[in-house]
Amino acid sequence: MPRPIQARIDLSAVQHNYLVAKQQASVSDSAAKAWAVVKADAYGHGLRRVAESLRGIADGFALLEIEAAVALREAGFRQPILLLEGFFEPVDVPVCAKYGLTVAIHRIEQLHMIRAAALPLPLPIYIKLNTGMNRLGFTQEQIPALRQELARNTAVGPATLMMHFAEADGVRGIDWQLERFHRMTDGWDLPVCMANSAAILRYPLTARDWVRPGIMLYGASPFAEISAESLGLRPVMTLGSRILAVQEIQPGERVGYGGTFEASRPSRIGIVACGYADGYPRHAPSGAPILVNGRRTTTVGRVSMDMLACDLTDIPDAGVDSPVVLWGEGMPADEVAAAAGTISYELFCALARRVPVVEVGL
Ligand SMILES: *Cc1c(COP(=O)(O)O)cnc(C)c1O
Repeated sequence: MPRPIQARIDLSAVQHNYLVAKQQASVSDSAAKAWAVVKADAYGHGLRRVAESLRGIADGFALLEIEAAVALREAGFRQPILLLEGFFEPVDVPVCAKYGLTVAIHRIEQLHMIRAAALPLPLPIYIKLNTGMNRLGFTQEQIPALRQELARNTAVGPATLMMHFAEADGVRGIDWQLERFHRMTDGWDLPVCMANSAAILRYPLTARDWVRPGIMLYGASPFAEISAESLGLRPVMTLGSRILAVQEIQPGERVGYGGTFEASRPSRIGIVACGYADGYPRHAPSGAPILVNGRRTTTVGRVSMDMLACDLTDIPDAGVDSPVVLWGEGMPADEVAAAAGTISYELFCALARRVPVVEVGL
């Protein structure tokens, strides 16, 4: 038998969450199209299975690994596919054209490379504008040169204006970026794509022509203070395992490497078959929430490579073989992430290859 750890991926939840994004992005009677963001192996959930669950449903797929985009095409996906960082080298351009990819353009040199590639058909592009994230994109000062290049570049096909929000989940919000966007695009009549999950949920008026939901597809919340459940989202990944052993310890006894947890009462400690080599965050301190036998308790001591410990003192019916949920159904990944000082995105992406995956729900 393999170790009892397992990641269950509920593909019906992906479909449900995608439709929540679509519905949220329908303001008055205009419905935005939605790129299903499947970068980083669909946030650790498995690109192929997530794409498969959206095969007849998604308007398009967005990612940034060219090989993954090509793999989707070769698996028969006909929707538009958007490369969120565009391409990296001139040799990539004919590949993008051959596989019908849409490319984000964030530097003028990428337009020169397209022009130099002598493509049989114009390449559809997303023009990435830097409105304050200061990661990728053209600034206000670069717009005249950009528009000049676009006006004479016949190798470029239909264009969409794209930007990314830095604080759609925070107090500063989006108005300051929208104002810059409008200044930069004044008199430029092209389709617009700006909203990530946080903007879709909090500012549906930003939906415009296309939206880019990522984390919400996987059933986690982009907001620190709002649960995924209250947003109508369903968890996709449930990381489950079992109790391998139970230790009965006296007050003053410690648990795990470094002895960072010391019992203050007679305690029953459950040892769970899950550690940082499975993707559980090692920096999660004692007190991270965990579900045993369907009941909430907390982790104790340091996370080891293959095991972690939890307090079973108040769950007398729990023992060896009791089922554990590290995150997912019944134990929101967002809460575990918060306890570990990170975000659910990182937990999902860190799921280790050694963890067996089971697909359900299709
Ligand atoms: C990852 C990404 C998204 C999705 O963001 P979420 O917060 O996961 O919804 C959208 N747009 C771009 C450019 C991205 O890189």
